[in-house]
Amino acid sequence: MSHDLVDCPRCRAAVRPVRPSVTDRLLLAGCWLVAMSMVAIGGLLGPFLFVLSPFLIAFGASLVRTGHERAFREPHCGRCETILPDALPRHRAMMGARDPHASSQEVSLARKAHA
Ligand SMILES: [Zn+2]
Repeated sequence: MSHDLVDCPRCRAAVRPVRPSVTDRLLLAGCWLVAMSMVAIGGLLGPFLFVLSPFLIAFGASLVRTGHERAFREPHCGRCETILPDALPRHRAMMGARDPHASSQEVSLARKAHA
């Protein structure tokens, strides 16, 4: 299926956008399950909860955040990790993609090419 190839604005190659998979969504569900289990088990710790709660909260929050970043990642280039504006839904492409690697010039060029 070559019809879903898009041009990467950074490495100038025709690439198939890499999107989050079902496994990534299941991983996110697992992250939430572990975080909620830690809350439930934390109730059994008694007075030790006051000592351990900052660590449990930090670990649970980072676990869920990492899961969300992976499960809801923008379509990106498999070669250079650049977010592909042409693979985004039209309303998202107009708002601009959040790409930490792209310079402001690349983002404006991608917007002009898409308009
Ligand atoms: Zn690329």
